[in-house]
Amino acid sequence: MTSAPAGTNGRTTMIASDLDRTLIYSPSALQLATTDETSPNLVSVEILEGRPHSFTSLTATRRLAELARIATFVPTTTRTMAQYQRVRFPGVTPKYAITSNGGHILVDGQPDEAWHRSTESAIAACDATLADVKHELRARSQEDWAIKRRVGDDLFCYIVVDLVRLPDGFIESWTQWCGERGWKVSVQGRKIYAIPKPLSKERAVLAVARRVGADHVVAAGDGALDSGFLMAADAGIRPPHGELAALGWEHPTVRIADRIGVLAADDITAWFAEQVQLASSLFPAEVVAAQ
Ligand SMILES: [Mg+2]
Repeated sequence: MTSAPAGTNGRTTMIASDLDRTLIYSPSALQLATTDETSPNLVSVEILEGRPHSFTSLTATRRLAELARIATFVPTTTRTMAQYQRVRFPGVTPKYAITSNGGHILVDGQPDEAWHRSTESAIAACDATLADVKHELRARSQEDWAIKRRVGDDLFCYIVVDLVRLPDGFIESWTQWCGERGWKVSVQGRKIYAIPKPLSKERAVLAVARRVGADHVVAAGDGALDSGFLMAADAGIRPPHGELAALGWEHPTVRIADRIGVLAADDITAWFAEQVQLASSLFPAEVVAAQ
């Protein structure tokens, strides 16, 4: 049924992780509290228009490469397929990836069409279409602070804003308008997303977990759009920064990484490694072999 890697004892752990501000960081999100002389080595994991665009720590990339050999690492992102395909971790080629906030499951880099059709029919039940939401968003936002307007894979939309000029109360009133029509709003840095409620990462995470036969799922994420799969996993972790931190969001099975900014990627991957080993030690090889 599956080509998912299994630990030495045959257990299958799946690691579902958000990317931006969880594992990878733009230069403005690095938040390095160290002096220049003691700063960690960083690795570029995304090139955009010929320039490095996102980074993670060297330690995190090495750990991920080891983890990907013994667990199923599933990048789980709101990025569109094209935005995701720019991200490359050294030594890691995920068989599965979740993009477009759960709207697409990529298998060996190709979208699963049956999954996409099931997503489209789930979101058809919303009271507002993407065209309705785009139209309302255009009417509510002005060019002097709404710098870019984007549609993600024909599923959702977002604006990139000048946070200094963003009018007071915009997010609250926009969240209310969307909420009354079956859509949700998420603020991630300078991006304000509007997403149909049935379009969720957790729906896709659970589908991939079933597909690979995972018996242990661990998760990481920093945004409100990650809270569903963080709660659905056996255990989760979030960085001490980001949208969930700003909301003061906590959950009994979700711990908070110690360090802020890109160093949270070190803490998160170290925690993944602990969880994978913990899952292994819960099921000693000789017990599994005897079953
Ligand atoms: Mg994020």
